[in-house]
Amino acid sequence: MVQDIKIFPDYILREKAKKVEEFSGIENLIEDMWETMYTYKGVGLAAPQIGIGKRIFVAEAEKRKLVMVNPVIIHKEGEELMEEGCLSLPEVYLPIPRAIFIEVEGLNEKGEKIKVEAEGLLSRVIQHEIDHLEGILTIDYARPSKRVKLEKLLKELNRRR
Ligand code: ZN
Repeated sequence: MVQDIKIFPDYILREKAKKVEEFSGIENLIEDMWETMYTYKGVGLAAPQIGIGKRIFVAEAEKRKLVMVNPVIIHKEGEELMEEGCLSLPEVYLPIPRAIFIEVEGLNEKGEKIKVEAEGLLSRVIQHEIDHLEGILTIDYARPSKRVKLEKLLKELNRRR
């Protein structure tokens, strides 16, 4: 089922998501995450963005579809600056530095160990989604003065919804 996207300043976007230990029922959650991501035309979605504080994300980029549970970046290489948007921060696009190449370890939806190598947009999306699991948002990369302005703007926007 398509879920509502949590929009800044919703508190859940700032919480550190919890490690998944129990895999029963997780399939439904992941199904909801895909449906929500496609409906809102995102390239990635983290569980906290639909109000679930669990360490799970889905992503589709570079012709790959990926579900990861409890992901951990174990290797990073290079750095690249590119504009990023976020479904939880409507109308905000910011240049964010990300590693070009990453290796990530975690579990799939069945709880089996997986290791993923990614570059290009997929690498960027994974880093963005893992930030969500830590309660980090793109506005945190902006200069303090710009960040204050953006936060004000977003709160204003949210009030008008
Ligand atoms: Zn996001």
